[in-house]
Amino acid sequence: MNAGEGAEQSEHAAENPPVRRLSAWDGDELRDLAAAYETPLYVMDLGRVRENCQRLRAAFPDADVRYAAKAHTGRAVLEAVREAGLGIECASAGEVERAFAAGAAGKEVQYTAVNPPDRDLDVVVDRWLSEPELTVTVGARDTVDRLRERGFDGRLCVRVNPGVGAGHHEKVTTGGHAKFGVPSSEAEAVVRDARDDFDVVGIHAHAGSGISGDDLSTHREVVRRMGDLARDVAAHVDLEFVDVGGGFGVPYREEEPPLDLSAVAEATREALGEVDAQLAVEPGRYVVADAGVVLTTVNTVKASGEYETVVGIDAGMTTLLRPAMYDAYHAIRNLSAGDDRSAIPVTVAGPICETSDVLCEHRPLAAPTRGDVLAVGNAGAYGYEMASTYNSRPRPAEVVLDPEPRLTRRRESLAALTELEQ
Ligand SMILES: *Cc1c(COP(=O)(O)O)cnc(C)c1O
Repeated sequence: MNAGEGAEQSEHAAENPPVRRLSAWDGDELRDLAAAYETPLYVMDLGRVRENCQRLRAAFPDADVRYAAKAHTGRAVLEAVREAGLGIECASAGEVERAFAAGAAGKEVQYTAVNPPDRDLDVVVDRWLSEPELTVTVGARDTVDRLRERGFDGRLCVRVNPGVGAGHHEKVTTGGHAKFGVPSSEAEAVVRDARDDFDVVGIHAHAGSGISGDDLSTHREVVRRMGDLARDVAAHVDLEFVDVGGGFGVPYREEEPPLDLSAVAEATREALGEVDAQLAVEPGRYVVADAGVVLTTVNTVKASGEYETVVGIDAGMTTLLRPAMYDAYHAIRNLSAGDDRSAIPVTVAGPICETSDVLCEHRPLAAPTRGDVLAVGNAGAYGYEMASTYNSRPRPAEVVLDPEPRLTRRRESLAALTELEQ
């Protein structure tokens, strides 16, 4: 590398940093969006989604990078991801349908069947008749039988339980959990049994959602086992790919360093060893997490001598479930407070009648007053996707920046809550 190239690279790095912190969002623009579209509101920046895709492709230049759609299935996001050259990994028939609706080609779509209901298999096999290049990943012998019964003889991938797992929380650790994948001791036999009836194109493992800089050893171990398995099954089938899963971590805390993607890529290559198949990875969170924020309005400020000040907001666990479900940390910024307001420790709570409906406790925040607009960071992944209508609370609206704002999901109406009732 000469000096000119170095300068060019660092210039590029400045345009496409490894993480976008909540503090880097334009506060005035977010406040305007809250005023125009009301709150609670999801804001997704498609430009940032594209940057994340580019960094992944640059770190894994010869791998097939597949976006795990369950992190965010909005059509605009799926289109942006696809245009950036990523495939789409789907966890259900609904996601498969959405991937095709977003213009994906059959070869770009993987359906990972986790205890698939009959209805899902029916829809996917039906779709396969017109999209014969789509791939179905199975995690149990009887899923293979159920596909056979439906006349499916297309592209098949076998999901293996890697025996080890990793995750930021036990609820997102999949590897090593009996629910996911065929036991590794049976994997070779499942591949051998399937090869006559199907086009066995790949093997797959996903350890969980928690690859972080200081936890690469688990990732290495999973990939090493997959490399061994790929070499073992090479005697029976010509594998097209070895998919080592997603789980690329993002720094939710402002002081946490970003993931070193090139270190992950290097560890992956090294652990995989020589295999006669293409490497595939399937990050979800990494693609969309820092591309999204939730905007919410303060509706109540309850100061109490005995307890910490409670800041009531119009977004709750029905808007963003992660804090209640995973004890997840999300950065919060008061967009309405200037430098004149000093920080006080607060509990930020939603409007749902549940103790767990709390976004944070003991958090220093520029002293909120009623009507302030707060931004909640890193909400692009597993945010809107996990929104619910619990407490008869309609789901929020969503706007994408492309770069101009565009309403992509209307705010759910109260009338819609009873639409399905007979
Ligand atoms: C959820 C999931 C992913 C993506 O996990 P992230 O933590 O969002 O990267 C990838 N593969 C499979 C099979 C999954 O279930």
